[in-house]
Amino acid sequence: MVRYARVMTELNIRKTGEDTADFDLPQGCPVCGGTVSIRLTPRDAHSYCAACKWIARPQVQFNQGGLQIAYPTVAQA
Ligand SMILES: [Zn+2]
Repeated sequence: MVRYARVMTELNIRKTGEDTADFDLPQGCPVCGGTVSIRLTPRDAHSYCAACKWIARPQVQFNQGGLQIAYPTVAQA
């Protein structure tokens, strides 16, 4: 079950390694609405919110012209 999904068309993706890339998703945190930092690797993705320390492993898919990010179900505080 997907609780949260967002499509972005403009992202500032920083290549941080041979196979990894980081980008920030403003207001991307479904918990507190803060900026989420997402790291992409060839196998999966990790997200981290510096504001509330929320960590998740979203599913990231590239579509034509954009990026779709789906977070797994998040427990409500
Ligand atoms: Zn947060």
